[in-house]
Amino acid sequence: MKILKIDHIGIAVSSIDEKKNFWIDALGLQLEGKETVEEQKVTTAFLPVGESEVELLESTSKDGPIAKYIEKRGEGIQHVAFRVENIEQALAELKEKGIALIDQTPRIGAGGAKIAFLHPKATSGVLVELCER
Ligand code: ZN
Repeated sequence: MKILKIDHIGIAVSSIDEKKNFWIDALGLQLEGKETVEEQKVTTAFLPVGESEVELLESTSKDGPIAKYIEKRGEGIQHVAFRVENIEQALAELKEKGIALIDQTPRIGAGGAKIAFLHPKATSGVLVELCER
């Protein structure tokens, strides 16, 4: 499998609009797009930083995964996403190496990317996302 770069860092926030004073106004990052993925009960905002991006994640519902994450651990870095050349091949290879996966097959995430999460027990507690665009 080939990892091309850190695609983005996912940051859980209570409210994108309320927290953009730091990310956009203070840091001067540009908001590239905002999108709601209903299936995952999340609204995402992508802020490009050079070759990578910051992805702000806001829950659309009290029982969504991001709401639960914030309830348990507070706002902060929620996942790190690596861009891979071929996500199906990467998942098959990791499975073969005995790495626990949350997603056995890719699903469609924000921006139409193919994404899959690895299980944090296999990754020193870091939620790792693979994505292919
Ligand atoms: Zn992500």
